[in-house]
Amino acid sequence: MSLLKSIPKIDKFIINKAFEGLSKSLITKISKEKIQNLRENILNNTIENFDENLLINSILEEYNDINSSSLKPLINATGIIVHTNLGRSLLDEKSITNAIKIATSYNNLEYDLQKGKRGERYEHITKSLKALTGCEDALVVNNNASAVFLILNTFCKNKEVVVSRGELVEIGGSFRVPEVMNQSGAILKEIGTTNKTHLRDYENAINNNTTMLMKVHKSNYSIEGFSSDVSFEDISKIATKYSLIDYFDMGSGHIFDLPYNLSKDEPSILELMKQNPSLLSFSGDKLLGSVQAGIIIGKKDLIEKLKKNQLLRMLRVDKITLSLLEESLNLYLKNELDTIPTLKMLNTKVEILKKRANLLKDKIENFMNCEVIETSTMVGGGTTPNKKIPSIALSLQFKDFKPNKMEEILRKNLIIARIENDKLLLDFRTIRENEIIKIENILKKEFKNV
Ligand SMILES: *Cc1c(COP(=O)(O)O)cnc(C)c1O
Repeated sequence: MSLLKSIPKIDKFIINKAFEGLSKSLITKISKEKIQNLRENILNNTIENFDENLLINSILEEYNDINSSSLKPLINATGIIVHTNLGRSLLDEKSITNAIKIATSYNNLEYDLQKGKRGERYEHITKSLKALTGCEDALVVNNNASAVFLILNTFCKNKEVVVSRGELVEIGGSFRVPEVMNQSGAILKEIGTTNKTHLRDYENAINNNTTMLMKVHKSNYSIEGFSSDVSFEDISKIATKYSLIDYFDMGSGHIFDLPYNLSKDEPSILELMKQNPSLLSFSGDKLLGSVQAGIIIGKKDLIEKLKKNQLLRMLRVDKITLSLLEESLNLYLKNELDTIPTLKMLNTKVEILKKRANLLKDKIENFMNCEVIETSTMVGGGTTPNKKIPSIALSLQFKDFKPNKMEEILRKNLIIARIENDKLLLDFRTIRENEIIKIENILKKEFKNV
């Protein structure tokens, strides 16, 4: 009972010097909760004494935690370039200058400066998309999942859309093609089998209620061996023959051909545009290397219909997204691809990665075991599944530390590493040049003189 009595009274407690200069209301709220906890623990006999300094420290810790940013920058040493858990694509600082101005001042988001009246927010982006891809018209929504939903809801509500069984995929974060279709009101007409779909399957499935032939990028899986699917080019031909919409949900979507022969089975946007498709959609923050967005390009009359769907209001993008996307597209138009970090990482030569890995090795090998190894990684983000791209990693060892212990130490320092064959690897495909010194300093702090 005496312990209960020793619990401080809240009004007296919060004027403690340790809380000077801090938000009184937040300190009071945290203190009340902690003191209430303390009281309960004493009554349950789960604690036998209490130390006021410890209490103060735990309150300060929670206070600081609440006040610090939850989203933190980190170093991606996994080698996966489009890493959805780590924020997908990054932007170069040079390419966000206009977005900063737009975010911090009023702007012509929906205002036509020529006519002095209401304008359209999507106009800002169509000019660049037309110039870059040769499309008739374009639309941008919140992400590619919204793009798929909007397209199906607009054209296939209570109508049939033909899709190959091999493409009814689930993409990370519970985006399942059949379920999205169901929710959009589209009637799914599955054709073919898991491993094989033929052109005649599409043609046989068409009836009076069919409006669309859709192709979906398989994203995170591929079927090896006895399998075949129909190219979008052939699907488009059938669609044209029967006056149907041909739509390709490309998922990632890259403007130009990819290195390492990755484009062999993955035609670029420019390649697909040659056949004048009805609609294509792709993400803004996968291989395009920009912000989160869903980009729809295609025929003008179809884009007009999409714009009339009330759903668009729910899926619409913000001015900062539009501004950032416009800047990224301008980098493509100016052919400044090195200013797009996703492409720069993808295109960096292995010899250069090796040089960088050796640079770090030279700095740390006097206090830990390390070895530069040739390895391979993946693009990520559902792009080119199972296709490896060459990379270089630094394999780290320290005393008898297990790889997962090392991984944890690095993670606490905001470096996300990869464990492979029981080795801890720092993959240089995704480590940026200016991060090497940061890694060096953290390794010194954690392992030198330990
Ligand atoms: C990634 C992906 C999506 C979802 O795109 P988000 O931009 O993440 O919403 C849809 N379809 C395919 C084929 C994808 O690969």
